[in-house]
Amino acid sequence: MAPSTNTFETLELKNVGRSFGGHDALVDLNLTVRAGEFIALLGPSGCGKSTALNCLAGLLPLTHGEILIDGKRVDILPSEKRDFGMVFQNYALFPHLSVEKNIAFGLQMRNLPKAEITRRVADGLALVKLQEQAKKLPGQLSGGQQQRVAIARAVVLEPRLVLMDEPLSNLDAKLRLEMRTEIRRLHQSLGLTTIYVTHDQEEALSLADRLVVLREGRVQQIGTPEELHNNPTNWHVADFMGYRNIVDLTVDSVTGSLARVSGHGISIMATVAQTAAVGDTVRVAIRPSDLVVLAPGESPQGRETIEATVNVVEYQGREFAVEVTTTAGQNLFVHAYSALLPGSTVQLSVDPSRALVYRTSLDQVDDSRRQLAGVPA
Ligand code: ATP
Repeated sequence: MAPSTNTFETLELKNVGRSFGGHDALVDLNLTVRAGEFIALLGPSGCGKSTALNCLAGLLPLTHGEILIDGKRVDILPSEKRDFGMVFQNYALFPHLSVEKNIAFGLQMRNLPKAEITRRVADGLALVKLQEQAKKLPGQLSGGQQQRVAIARAVVLEPRLVLMDEPLSNLDAKLRLEMRTEIRRLHQSLGLTTIYVTHDQEEALSLADRLVVLREGRVQQIGTPEELHNNPTNWHVADFMGYRNIVDLTVDSVTGSLARVSGHGISIMATVAQTAAVGDTVRVAIRPSDLVVLAPGESPQGRETIEATVNVVEYQGREFAVEVTTTAGQNLFVHAYSALLPGSTVQLSVDPSRALVYRTSLDQVDDSRRQLAGVPA
């Protein structure tokens, strides 16, 4: 299939909100999407991702706000007039129709000429490599193949926007990876603007040009995978971005952007990501891969070490995922490149730029980390 020509310059969500009874499922979502972008809406269950997608799709009316394409309101249009394609978690195929008839269905509803339908269905089948399954019923296909049909069905409509709601979550781990690459490949070749809902940070980081992290209906941070990975704006985003060690410590001193923090058998230098003062209890976030296990006799390069006992060692292919406990009973997760013996004592060190200090409260999100990182607001 040729790259999409049915496109726009910008899609804008302005203060988009949706409540159910008195419950705010989505509050003030502001987002500008450029043509061809792949945006992931990311967050834990119940954070409002599907609500946002359903508002975009026209399946749910907005309680507040507007959705505009090139300055024109689309939230006032019925779903079928928005010219968007949707791919759902459960595929939503017609079980009694063959693969090719499922793909043709939307085209027939649009009363396209027969020859055009035949051409687009053939293109769609080729795109998702299902030519040989064209006559089969969905029930005769694997989950991955069914999801391919669903994607082809959306794409052949040449929509100006594709909305995907956790399309890979019913697939096993291997198929998920394969389909992830497939979706990326399709996006690269067709350039379709896509909004993709997932709770899987790895999926979001690998697919999206930009991510929107939501929590309890509110945007926590919008940024590129790199920005979110390196500069999470608060501990919740850090937690979501794989900073598995999130420990409450006390600030002993602050010098510029560095703070000494201690507690639970830990005393380290860390980077102030959100303003902190001496005596504050703060939440310090560190990725397992940034807690370095020192080899016996290895120098910690002037850094303090954390003494800990090895609890559990899991082999993970290239490295070992290890759970350790500090002398004060705090569990930490580290990556090691050689097998450690459970019960043995290890010394850990962390580069201060890799230990991020956040406020414990999420009520107020500030921009100090973005400013420190030179990221424009
Ligand atoms: P999941 O990953 O579990 O699908 P989500 O992030 O997509 O979660 P939503 O489905 O958007 O979350 O739900 C957001 C909030 O709105 C939740 O608290 C949910 O219970 C509530 N909610 C969603 N749909 C409805 C509805 N039709 N009626 C009442 N409450 C709803």
